[in-house]
Amino acid sequence: MKTLDVLVIGGGVNGAAIARDLSGRGLSVMLCEKDDLAGATSSASTKLIHGGLRYLEYRKFGLVRQALIEREVMLRAAPHLVWPLQFILPHHKALRPRWLIRLGLFIYDHLGGRKTLPASRGMPFAGTRAGQPLKQDFRYGFSYADCWVDDARLVVVNALDAYEKGAQVLTRTECVKLERHPEDQGWIATLHDHITDSKTRVHVRLVVNAAGPWVNRILSLAAEGIEKFKVRWVKGSHVIVPRIYQGDHAYILQQADKRIVFAIPYEKKYTLVGTTEVDYHGDLDEVRISMEEVEYLCAAVNGYFRKQTTPEDVEWTYSGVRPLHEEPGVTSAAAATREYLLDVEEYQGGKILSVYGGKITTSRRLAEEAGDRIVALIGRGKGGWTAHAPLPGGEGAAANFEMFYKTLRREFNWLPEALAHRYARAYGARCREFLRGFKRMADLGAHLGDNVYEVEIAYLVNTEWALTADDILWRRSKLGLHVSEETETNVRRAVKIILSKKTS
Ligand SMILES: Cc1cc2nc3c(=O)[nH]c(=O)nc-3n(C[C@H](O)[C@H](O)[C@H](O)COP(=O)(O)OP(=O)(O)OC[C@H]3O[C@@H](n4cnc5c(N)ncnc54)[C@H](O)[C@@H]3O)c2cc1C
Repeated sequence: MKTLDVLVIGGGVNGAAIARDLSGRGLSVMLCEKDDLAGATSSASTKLIHGGLRYLEYRKFGLVRQALIEREVMLRAAPHLVWPLQFILPHHKALRPRWLIRLGLFIYDHLGGRKTLPASRGMPFAGTRAGQPLKQDFRYGFSYADCWVDDARLVVVNALDAYEKGAQVLTRTECVKLERHPEDQGWIATLHDHITDSKTRVHVRLVVNAAGPWVNRILSLAAEGIEKFKVRWVKGSHVIVPRIYQGDHAYILQQADKRIVFAIPYEKKYTLVGTTEVDYHGDLDEVRISMEEVEYLCAAVNGYFRKQTTPEDVEWTYSGVRPLHEEPGVTSAAAATREYLLDVEEYQGGKILSVYGGKITTSRRLAEEAGDRIVALIGRGKGGWTAHAPLPGGEGAAANFEMFYKTLRREFNWLPEALAHRYARAYGARCREFLRGFKRMADLGAHLGDNVYEVEIAYLVNTEWALTADDILWRRSKLGLHVSEETETNVRRAVKIILSKKTS
C-alpha cells in the first residue's frame, strides 16, 4: 500500500480548498467526496462573498474583518465566478434607527480590506431605480457593496486546481472506516466507491475531516467519544421566484424578528430569496424546505415590494445545513457563530484535523491556516501560496473579466452572445480549452437543445468530474432552471455516452 501525506474527507468548499492548498505546498493528497463535489452545504448557500453586515450586531468584528479582506482576494482569484454586487438596504422606520445603520456601514467600510469595492452611501429613493419596486413607505435607504459567487463552481475550480497540482480527486467515494496504522502515526482509511460498489484501503499520514455537517460522524469512524465539540445544525432555505424587480442590484431586507432576508437577481429571469434559519435534527441527506419557510420568505419580501409573491410563484427551492460549532450560552440560530474552528484530535498517536463551521467567503483563508498546521504536524511542505494565486479560469488575461470577455467575443465571433457570455462566466479562461480551434457552430458537436452543446458536456464529464445530468444541470450550472425536459433527457443520454467512451 502506497503512503500518502493527507486524506481530505469532504468535497465541499472547505475540503476542496484544503486539498488545493496542500497539493500546492508539495504534499501528496487524496480528496474523497461521498456524493458530488459541492453536493451538500456548499451549493446551498446564499452565494455571497461578504463580510456579513449583520454579524457586526453580535460584535463579531474579527470575523467580519477577515471576511471583508477575503472579498477582494476572491475577486482577484476567480473574477469569472465572483463579482461585485450592489446591495440596497431600505430604511424601515419601525426597525433599526438610521444612525445605527449608518454607524454599521461606516464600520463595514473601514474595518479593512476594501480596495476596489465602492464605499456605502445614504440614498433618498425618490426617482431612483432602486426605490421604484418598493412600497411607498420606503423613501430612504442605504447602498453598499459585497460580492456574488457561484458557490458550486468555486468548489469545482478548487478541486481542479488541487488535481492539476497532483491531488487525487475521488467523487462518489465515501470514507467508511478509519483505523490506526499498527506501525506508524498514520491511518488506514477504507473508501467505498459507490459507482463500482468496491472498497479500497489507503494509508495516509494525516486525515483532514472537512465533512461539514457530518464532521462528528467522521470522528466516530475513528473512535467513539473523541469528538470535543458539539455541532449545531441550522437549516437555511431559499426560494427562486420570477423576477420581483428589474435591475442588477440586490436588497437586504430587515425583518421584525431581527433577522435579514436577501432578494438577489438570479439567472437573469429570477429573484433568489433567502434565507431562513431553523434548528435541524433530521436526515442530512434529505434536507428540504418546509411550507412554513416558504411562507416566511414570501412574507419577508412582501413587506417591502409592491409586487406580491405567493408560494404558488415559487419555481425552485434549495436548502442546506450550516454546521456551526456550539458556543455556550447562545440559544438563537441567527446569533450562533459563523467563525470557523480548526481542531486537531489525537487518537492513539494518530492525528485528525477537523473543520467546524465557516463560510464560503473565508474558505481560502481557512485552508491556508489548515495548511500551515498540517505542514507543522507532518514536518514537510512549503508555505502558504494562495493569497495571490488565480483559480482555474481566472488566469492571465481573464483577471479582468470585462476585457477577457471582449477578446473572447472577437475571437469566437460566430458564437451567439448569450452562449459566449455563459461560457465566459462559467469557465473563464478555461472555455478556450474546449473552444480551441473551433470556427463555426457545427464544431460544438450535437445540439442537445436550449443552447446546450455536446462539447460542454464532454468538458464537464472529462475535466470536472460530472457523472450525472444533475451534476451538470443543478451544480456545475443552473441550466436545470432553463432547459426543457427534452434537453434534460438529451443531456442524460450524452453523459452516458461520454462516460462509456471514457471507461472503454
Ligand atoms: C443557507 C445557507 C446560506 C449560506 N450562505 C453563505 C453565504 O452567502 N456566504 C458564505 O460565505 N457562506 C454561506 N454559508 C456557509 C457556507 O455555505 C458553509 O460554511 C460551507 O459551504 C461549508 O462547507 P464545507 O465544505 O465545510 O461543508 P459541505 O459543503 O457540507 O461539505 C462537506 C462534504 O463532506 C461530504 N462527506 C460527508 N461525509 C463523508 C464521508 N464519510 N466520506 C466522504 N465525503 C463525506 C459531504 O457529502 C459534503 O459534500 C451558508 C450556509 C447555508 C446553510
